[in-house]
Amino acid sequence: MVNTHLHFDHAGGNTRREGSRVVPTFPRARYVVQRGEWEDARHPHERSRASYREDDFVPVAEAAQLDLIDGEAEVAPGVRAVPVGGHTTHHQMVVVESGGETLIVPTDLLPTASHLPLPFVMAYDLFPVATLEAKRQLLGAAADGGWRILFYHDARTPVGRVRREGDGYTLEVDP
Ligand SMILES: [Zn+2]
Repeated sequence: MVNTHLHFDHAGGNTRREGSRVVPTFPRARYVVQRGEWEDARHPHERSRASYREDDFVPVAEAAQLDLIDGEAEVAPGVRAVPVGGHTTHHQMVVVESGGETLIVPTDLLPTASHLPLPFVMAYDLFPVATLEAKRQLLGAAADGGWRILFYHDARTPVGRVRREGDGYTLEVDP
C-alpha cells in the first residue's frame, strides 16, 4: 500500500491496537513511503508536529514492512507513486493505469472537487505555491488525457474527470 504522506488522517489506518501493542493493520503488506516524508515525520517541526502520530508509522518500520522510496517509482504493475510536494515536502500522488484508463489519487494536492480553481489551496500546505504549480500541471494533463481523479476528502464527489473551461476547469461526474 502507498502512503501519500504520513499525516494522521492519511496514515491512521496503517496500524491497529492488539492488546497493549500497536501492530500493522495489514501484516503481509509493504507500506510504500517517500524516504524524505519518513524522515520529516520522524523529525517534525513546530508547524508539522500535530499532524504526525508515531503510532501510525513506527510499528510498520519495527515490523520490517516499511518500503522507503526516493522519487517516482512503480510500486505494482500499473501503479506508480509520483512526488508532487506542496502539502508536505515529499507528498506523493498515486497513478493507476489499467485497461487504457488512468485514475489519479492526488490526495491533499486536490482534497475535494471544490479545490479545482488553481488558487484554492489548503492553509495546511507547507508550500502553497508548489501546490498551485503541481495542480496546474496535473489538471492540464488530466483534462487532456481524460483521466479520472479521486478526491480523497470529498464525501459528495469522490471521483470525476475535469474539462477545460475558460481559464479553469469544470468537473464531469460519471453517471
Ligand atoms: Zn495531509
